[in-house]
Amino acid sequence: MARVILVTVPSSEADHLAETLVRERLAACVSVLSGTESHYRWEGRLQRETECQLVIKTADAMVEAVTARVHEIHSYDVPELLVLPVESGSEAYLAWIDDAVSGAGMESTQEVIRTLADAAERKPEPEAEPTPVSPAAHARVGEQRIVLLGPPGAGKSSIARRLADRYGLARLATRELLAEAAKREDKSALEIRDQIAHGRLVSDERATQLVRADLEREPGGRVFDGYPRTAAQAEALDSFAPVDTVFYLNAPEEVLLERLTSHLVCDCGADYGPARPPKHPGLCDACGYKLYRREDDRPENARTRLAEYREKTRPLLFHYRDRLHPIDASASPAEVFASISAILEGKG
Ligand code: AMP
Repeated sequence: MARVILVTVPSSEADHLAETLVRERLAACVSVLSGTESHYRWEGRLQRETECQLVIKTADAMVEAVTARVHEIHSYDVPELLVLPVESGSEAYLAWIDDAVSGAGMESTQEVIRTLADAAERKPEPEAEPTPVSPAAHARVGEQRIVLLGPPGAGKSSIARRLADRYGLARLATRELLAEAAKREDKSALEIRDQIAHGRLVSDERATQLVRADLEREPGGRVFDGYPRTAAQAEALDSFAPVDTVFYLNAPEEVLLERLTSHLVCDCGADYGPARPPKHPGLCDACGYKLYRREDDRPENARTRLAEYREKTRPLLFHYRDRLHPIDASASPAEVFASISAILEGKG
């Protein structure tokens, strides 16, 4: 069941309140109707004020959390607040409202309130300081083109970030290039969004075109995260930027599925999983906003991604057999990274 909540607020607070509710995924959508004339009696005198009316669309289970948040932020002692059921609307529309507010997999109001209120510190295990990299190794590895192959959930992105930090390598993540291309308002952007959301690979031409343009813009060393993913992509890459080293990150399927379905992300780019939980459950360490689950990490889409990997990407292990280093990716990110850097620096 969906609900509409109407609240009257001072004009100066309307945008902030609307943005907060949407950002924290307490509401699917908030419309701000400005210019509502209010007449009221306050301290014995008749008052007149121009206020705003917020129309907040949310799921039934979120009403309590929204009300609590409005009371918290709002400067009025007793905000005027009316909750109405949404009785019309297609099933898809009502499901959209439900979905939009339960992105982090937190269906019940109680759970949301607990998450927001319970700021109990959960300290992740401190990581051992890595030994400094020698200038020679930094220069040598920083010039390489390194491919990270492996199923979704193997931790390629986090390893790619560490490699970029340690060796000054530029990171090339096709997911990010595609996400940028998907922002446009044309037919191909729509197609990309749909393919990504359902866990299917986008066309080889599109992925290769983006990779090629990125390499032309800035030549030099690269760590490839998510490319190549098919035989056609590997052959294309061989033709314009041959690869030096390939790491094959693998883990048992149960580990991958558990990681994918507990993976939470923030709009600021930070991401969290079993090995790196946020300090406050459900909230981003970097910016404090509410975390949510990516559409393609939903169990049914995660399974499609694994199937796509098995059918189209795994055969690349043979293609790269002469430069392939298998790595056990079920270990912690720090351990996986230690094995990879030892190999790159000639200590493995
Ligand atoms: P990732 O986070 O690397 O698993 O990528 C997420 C999604 O982006 C994939 O499930 C595909 O839909 C799309 N994608 C990323 N890289 C490629 C690629 N090289 N070729 C085709 N599709 C890709």
